[in-house]
Amino acid sequence: MQNSRIDIEEPSRRTPVIHEADVCVLGGSCTGLFAAVRAARLGAKVVLVERQNCFGGVATLSLVNIWHSLLDTNFEEQIIGGLTAEVIERLDQRGAGEHRPNNPNAGYIFNPEDLKITLDELAVESGIKLYLHTLFVAPWVEDGQLAGVLVENKSGRGLIRARQFVDATGDGDLVHRLGLDSHVSPLPQPSTTCAKFGNWAKPDGAALGKLVAEFREEFHLPHGFVWGCNVPDSALYMIAGTRVPGMDPTDADSLTAGEIEGRRQVGVLKKLIRKLPGGENVTLETLPARIGLRESRHIHSHHRLTTDEVLHGVSFPDVIAKGSYRVDIHHIDKPGITLRYLDGREEYSCPGQPKQYSRWREETETNPTHYQIPYRSLVPKGPYPNLIAAGRMIDTEPGAHAAVRVMVNMNQTGEAAGVACTLALQDNTPLNKLDPMKLRQTLSEGGSLLKK
Ligand SMILES: Cc1cc2nc3c(=O)[nH]c(=O)nc-3n(C[C@H](O)[C@H](O)[C@H](O)COP(=O)(O)OP(=O)(O)OC[C@H]3O[C@@H](n4cnc5c(N)ncnc54)[C@H](O)[C@@H]3O)c2cc1C
Repeated sequence: MQNSRIDIEEPSRRTPVIHEADVCVLGGSCTGLFAAVRAARLGAKVVLVERQNCFGGVATLSLVNIWHSLLDTNFEEQIIGGLTAEVIERLDQRGAGEHRPNNPNAGYIFNPEDLKITLDELAVESGIKLYLHTLFVAPWVEDGQLAGVLVENKSGRGLIRARQFVDATGDGDLVHRLGLDSHVSPLPQPSTTCAKFGNWAKPDGAALGKLVAEFREEFHLPHGFVWGCNVPDSALYMIAGTRVPGMDPTDADSLTAGEIEGRRQVGVLKKLIRKLPGGENVTLETLPARIGLRESRHIHSHHRLTTDEVLHGVSFPDVIAKGSYRVDIHHIDKPGITLRYLDGREEYSCPGQPKQYSRWREETETNPTHYQIPYRSLVPKGPYPNLIAAGRMIDTEPGAHAAVRVMVNMNQTGEAAGVACTLALQDNTPLNKLDPMKLRQTLSEGGSLLKK
């Protein structure tokens, strides 16, 4: 057959304006939703666009049910507050979470289904115009200014007009489609399909990890790492034990193949769990609505957060988020994970092998107890003064991303983006010229712990 793949020119068409707002947020993970809520609480008219059927992003769609500690590395001072702390309180009231105090692996674990309902309530109470099942498809630029976004959903195609825009799509879809530069790590963190299992009498992630290492070649499994977590208020256990290295989440063919490969690996995990004592009757209960994505595009901003700045706990005058989660690299070029702590310790864990301990720097008497994310790392360079990014696409070096990527940190970037948009409107200021002290002050007044 002859190749008929010649590009076509679509006929021009009239598109209805379906909504007008002060602030438009794209992507409804906690990052995006928290941006929207914080802007709405300051009086802005806000619209939130999410392509799936619920809010929460990876925490709900991809079944990742762990938030890390809100405390510093010594578990003494609370460094994270805001909407993360508020949502934890709400989940506690539903009996849908468990606190894991002083645990570097997990501060709070929750039931993702309850998180969906909790986030619905928060969104509805905040008076935000919500669009679920709605895909952002293209920016709308008028006279060189970002004036709106084109979306598609069951009702058709429409334009949302707004004055400020938050890209919280994880992959930086708005930034990319505006033609702005982005960068991708040379070894991006791999994607993982999580799954919830039932009837597993003695869940044991480490034992499963050993089996995966043993049967890797027989079942065509890539090198990986296996961990798991109980799902509060349920009889289920979540396993993050697959790995789809080399999948590009921004490429349709690669993403399609990756989803299928991730599910195939889950099927293998079920077979392996059945070989474990207590796992004989295991059932596969839930597959995610979307493969879990750790990393894709990063924006080019006014400050690329470096690995050294994170590991040495450098302070920034324009700090908008604080974190204590260690550098956590899921390798794609070898099995296992490497952890680097702010006190200089390093650990390498490989399934089926003893942990290897070393140091990435010499011991010192005192160590930083947290690191900071500066506002500038959220503001893309380029001609659009009303555009800001939040979430895993912020501008980081690979090692910095390996730490800041966790949700308790990304949630704060969302809150900062929402508040920044509102201040920019109130003061009629471009986002890259905002007064950082005023931003911190306003974030603190709304519950963020940024006064010090
Ligand atoms: C397997 C795995 C395990 C992890 N473990 C942990 C952990 O234990 N704890 C932790 O805190 N973090 C963990 N992480 C990291 C963390 O989950 C992510 O870094 C974080 O969720 C990223 O948040 P985000 O808001 O940037 O992106 P996402 O959570 O991916 O949210 C992006 C949102 O935008 C929506 N969207 C995307 N494109 C469009 C579009 N064009 N139009 C409309 N909507 C769109 C998506 O549907 C989604 O809701 C893990 C990640 C993975 C994959």
